[in-house]
Formats: sequence, structure tokens, C-alpha cells
Amino acid sequence: MDQSSDKNLDPILRQNERLEKQRTAILNVLEDIAEEKEKFEKLEKKFEDIARSSSDFLWEIDDDGKYTYASGRVKEILGYETDEIIGKTPFDLMEEEEVKKVRKDFDKAVSAKKPILNLKNWNLAKDGRKVCLLTNGVPMLDKRGNLLGYRGADKDITMQEDIDKAKTEFVSLASHQLRTPLTAISWYTEMVLAGDAGKITPEQKKYLEEVYSGNKRMIGLVNALLNVSRLELGTFMVEPEETTLKALAELIIKELDHVIKKKKMKFVFDYDETIPKMMLDVKLITMVFQNLMSNAVKYTPEGGKVSLIVKKEGDKAKITIADSGYGIPKHQQNRIFSKLFRADNVTQRDTEGTGLGLYLVKEIVETAGGKVWFESEEDKGTSFFVELPLAGMSKRKGTKQLT
Ligand code: ADP
Repeated sequence: MDQSSDKNLDPILRQNERLEKQRTAILNVLEDIAEEKEKFEKLEKKFEDIARSSSDFLWEIDDDGKYTYASGRVKEILGYETDEIIGKTPFDLMEEEEVKKVRKDFDKAVSAKKPILNLKNWNLAKDGRKVCLLTNGVPMLDKRGNLLGYRGADKDITMQEDIDKAKTEFVSLASHQLRTPLTAISWYTEMVLAGDAGKITPEQKKYLEEVYSGNKRMIGLVNALLNVSRLELGTFMVEPEETTLKALAELIIKELDHVIKKKKMKFVFDYDETIPKMMLDVKLITMVFQNLMSNAVKYTPEGGKVSLIVKKEGDKAKITIADSGYGIPKHQQNRIFSKLFRADNVTQRDTEGTGLGLYLVKEIVETAGGKVWFESEEDKGTSFFVELPLAGMSKRKGTKQLT
């Protein structure tokens, strides 16, 4: 046997061996890929099943805000096929007024790359129906933290909204109807008390005075309910006129003067004269002062201190109403602007109230483009702050006035 041919075979065998190993490696990689693909397909199927069984419309938008994915549920909710939605933005389905309202909160979340939480928005379905959606979404970020888009779900809450509206309309109607007989009771009690129907005994007078003050409280409650329903239905008008915050504040100070004196309170009023005249709805802003000031006086014990400070801060007027009273318990502070809410520490004391005042204040201030917040410590005192744009309020046509 020739020795040299053996030597030649050796590298060929080695090469063969290498090729065999490579082949096995490639086969392994291909197997891995097939496995991954299977996993991915299973995941995709899982997601599709979830999307199909969910009553929500699931979506994904890119960094331009355009839909890149829309689950089939969109057809039932908004009447559009998935293909018709892809490439549109959520705002393409809203009326101009609604875009203005929703855009602010949407942009706020996007610019901070934060989740979109419970964002209520009214949309026009393909057939012209109005559909209310509750949107929730989370940002999609790349490894460097750049925003790629959002993924989320829209819940159809049109029915709840319609029921809510019907309830509010009922409260509005009922309180409106109640006002007339209550006002009549007030007039006639006043007349009898004044002796218009003949002399009354001291005992009768005492009872009638109770009837009169109870009825007055009821009128207050009915008016507050009517105002709340008008705010909720959006049927109230805003009629700005040129005035000063000073004039409105002084009106309320005068109104509360006798209680402040009776409770021997120290009262401070500090007004920044550089604040210009503003276009304000006198009735609405007076209600803000009235509610905050009367609360400060009501929830501060005898001999306490209340102050009202109005300052110019940039393009805003900042109103601070501070008291040295009972304060608001920490654990209830997050509920203070909710309808009908009254904190434990004041209900235990003999104070009267409806729990509707602060809700009204917040709605009015936000309608005026401002904001309201507070700081409070139990048994030390409370400060409410209101910021109003110096630019004033915009006129709004409505059918009803707040009372
Ligand atoms: P109310 O008719 O009960 O005063 P509001 O809506 O005006 O209703 O206020 C809601 C609740 O907020 C009050 O019941 C009280 O618990 C709390 N609150 C408001 N203002 C003050 C304040 N200045 N000091 C302490 N608690 C306050």
C-alpha cells in the first residue's frame, strides 16, 4: 500500500467530519427555530383567543398615534372593520370639541411616557351613533426607553353613561319640581310669623321658626342638587362680564360678617391691587368664594382665624382661603371633592352640610380653566387654593343658570 495516499485521505476525512458536525449544528439551529416559531404561533393564537373573547376593543398605536393593530371587537363597538381602523388615529373618530377635551390628558400621558388611565372619550361610530369609550393603555418602550407606541383596551361604557344621564335628569327634574312647593312653604311661614294671619302664641312662634329654618335648609339642598345636575348635564350657561375678584370677595365677606363676629373670629383680607379686571361669570365665581369661605368659617371653632388672600402670580390669580379649624383627616382627603362626601370629624360635630359644595367648586373652577387644591392637617387647619387664569372665562351658551 502506498503510504502517501493514506496521508492524502486524512485531511479529507477530517474535512468530512467537520462538515458532519456543521450539518448537525445547523439541524439543531433549525430545530430550535422551529420550536421558537411554534411557541410564537401558540402565543399569537393565545392572544387572538383572548382578544376575541374580550368584550373590549384591544389596540396598538405607533409613535405617530396611528393604529397598527385593532381587535375584531372594533366592528361591534364602532362599526368599522379592522382594516378600516389601521392607519387612523383615535382622534379621527372624535368630534372636534371632544378632541380638544381628550387631547390634553392623552398628550400629558404620552409626553411623560406614562400609562393612559381611565380616559373617557366620546366617538362617532361608522353609522353616526355616539359611543363612549373608557381607554386604558400602557407605553411600549425600546431598550433605550424611547417610546414606540401604546397598547391598550377600550371599554364601551355608552350604556352606563346613558343610565347616569337619565339619573341626573331625574334628579334635575325632581329638584326643580320640589322648589316651587318649598318656596311656597317659606313665604306662608314668613307671613304667619309676621302676624299677617292673626296673632300667634310664643309657642306657635317657636314651632313655626323650626319649620321655617328646616324648610330653608331643604331649599338649600334642593338648589345644590339642581346645580350639581346642571353641571353634570352640561346645560348651565357661562356669562362672563367685566368685574374684579375684589368685588366678588367683598360681597361674600359682607354676607359672612355676622357669623365671623358671632364666633369671635379673627379675619384677614389681603388683596393684590395689581390684579386687573377680569371677564368672570359673577354667579359662578361668587359660588366658589361662598362655598370655600363659608366652609372655613363653619369648620373653625370660636375664636379661630380665617384669611382670604388674593394674589397675582404670572398670568393667574391665586386665591388662598385658610383657616385654623378642624382640618380634614388624612385618610379621607382623597374623597373631599366627591359628591355628597362629608368627613367623619365634621359629621361628629354638630355641623350642617350637604357635601355638594366642594364638588360644585371644582366643576366651576375647571370650567373656568383653573384648578383647585388644598392642604390640611387635623386640628391645625385647612388652606384651599384656587388658581384662575387672568384671561377670564369663555362664554358658553347653555339652557339653564346655576341658582
Ligand atoms: P359641606 O356642605 O359638608 O360643607 P362641602 O362639599 O363644602 O360640603 O365639603 C365637603 C367636606 O369637606 C365637608 O363636609 C368637610 O368634611 C370637608 N371640608 C371642607 N372645607 C373644610 C374646611 N375648611 N375645614 C375642614 N373640613 C372641610
